[in-house]
Amino acid sequence: MLLMRAFYSGRFVLPLPSGHRFPMGRYALLREGLERHLPEVRMLEAPRASDGELALAHTPAWIAAITDGSVDAQAMREIGFPWSEAMVERSRRSAGATIEACRAALAEGVAANMAGGTHHASSDRGGGFCVFNDAAVAARLMQAEQGRSGKAPLQVAVIDLDVHQGNGTARIFRDDPSVFTLSMHGQKNFPFRKEASDLDVELPDGCGDAEYLAALEHALDELDRRFTPGLVIYLAGADPFERDRLGRLKLSFDGLEARDRRVFDFAWQRRIPLAFAMAGGYASDIAETVQVQLGTFRVAFEYWRRWQNAAARGNP
Ligand SMILES: [Zn+2]
Repeated sequence: MLLMRAFYSGRFVLPLPSGHRFPMGRYALLREGLERHLPEVRMLEAPRASDGELALAHTPAWIAAITDGSVDAQAMREIGFPWSEAMVERSRRSAGATIEACRAALAEGVAANMAGGTHHASSDRGGGFCVFNDAAVAARLMQAEQGRSGKAPLQVAVIDLDVHQGNGTARIFRDDPSVFTLSMHGQKNFPFRKEASDLDVELPDGCGDAEYLAALEHALDELDRRFTPGLVIYLAGADPFERDRLGRLKLSFDGLEARDRRVFDFAWQRRIPLAFAMAGGYASDIAETVQVQLGTFRVAFEYWRRWQNAAARGNP
């Protein structure tokens, strides 16, 4: 039986000092939740992204400094994790997981990275728990692979619905018309100095389901008018959730499911392969963050199945 592929790293869990505010426990909870509730998802270990792959979106100096630990203390403070070999391993596998998810999506319609969405990393710096920008690396690698195969150039849309702006992604692709960056985020939230995405939608504190979904509708219409992607990378951040500690928005479980459904449906209607990554999620009760993420996987699986049914009818 063919199953929807989701890529993880055994090293998604970093040892952190006690009291560190990053909720590492959610990665193990997501794996358990998928095992228990969604056996249709096949979890596969992601390979490490190589130096050459990372260099598609990052400077050799940044890759080297992160890898050998010579990165300066201020840059590590901006990332927010202590440097360790495990952190390097985790960051490389997380980029590898989005690469594999994109390859799987291009073959089967929909696939996942069970972490990733590290959108605050730009070419020569990290920030906000992000070391390498997995979506940027994967987008550029898919473009290179498609170029080598002699097909038409691949255009990629990054639809970033994490509650924080995808400032790193915006910066990396600022002068690259082949990648469209859409970010919907809290206007008053981190990062406080925003970059210019191709399309930024700023939401007020306390924004609820109806207002959010209307804004998403407008944003997808505009994306559709301005760009024709051959691949969507969707950052399905769980942090717009109403009980998120860092989100400042007020989306319910139902609102977040409707959000996911709208994005998957946008891609499906146009038969655009879609790879998704988890990005942020910081609910006081991390089980609620994982519940949001499991909801995303449920919707994703529905659309994955549509792709397989269409392929089986010889009508992809
Ligand atoms: Zn976030």
